[in-house]
Amino acid sequence: MLMEMGSLAPGFQYASAKMASDLNIFQQPSPNFGIRRGGVIPSMIVLHYTAMKSSKDAIQRLSDPKSEVSAHYLIDEAGKVTQLVDEQKRAWHAGQGCWGEINDINSYSIGIELDYCPSAKCNFDERQISSLEKLLFDILKRRSEIRPEFIIAHSDMAPGRKFDPGMYFPWKKLSQKGLSIWPENILDLAADWGKFKYHAERFGYRASCDTFGGWTDVLDVFRLRFLPKQEGKLSPVDMGVITYLSNNWPNIRNND
Ligand SMILES: [Zn+2]
Repeated sequence: MLMEMGSLAPGFQYASAKMASDLNIFQQPSPNFGIRRGGVIPSMIVLHYTAMKSSKDAIQRLSDPKSEVSAHYLIDEAGKVTQLVDEQKRAWHAGQGCWGEINDINSYSIGIELDYCPSAKCNFDERQISSLEKLLFDILKRRSEIRPEFIIAHSDMAPGRKFDPGMYFPWKKLSQKGLSIWPENILDLAADWGKFKYHAERFGYRASCDTFGGWTDVLDVFRLRFLPKQEGKLSPVDMGVITYLSNNWPNIRNND
């Protein structure tokens, strides 16, 4: 079915309806939430991994008032989806950071945690990714404000501080279903930090400070998501990818 979609329209609606119909969402309300400041409507999704031993431990932590953390959804390894916070409410998953012009990411986003431990150094469970795809289809179908390029990694919005959902997260696979973005047919371009910063900012990245350290943190999280095997100094392939991202998905919003 998905192979026949080609592009998102008009098969997307049909596919999303079909996908959403067999998605079971279990409810386990967490007290850790507030109101979305300014009553904003969420226009982003932030993806995380829990880095905990089990989904049970993660749910406990995401529901403990003392932890002061939560997420809207948690998906366990076997694909079970648990909702902890109503989408209308502001869950506490993002912490400090920004993306494009948005500083209060929690107010503007829906947070999804994946029960996954990075020390395992392995791919995400297919059942888990399948449930995530169904959940994303369902959210995107209901919320036209959220475009595929606004589904980001926690690491994207907090360079140097956060590294989830990590190098094994299947962004490319999701992009083939219209649930993410992925650069294709990249041309090498001359390495140039000034141009890298320009394109990284135009795409949405913000350095925590305008120093070389701040920008190498951005390079690291950009690579973690788009070029996980890339190491060393700024290279022509980094330049090709960041330029492609910035040209195709400049972070321009019209509803803020
Ligand atoms: Zn996270």
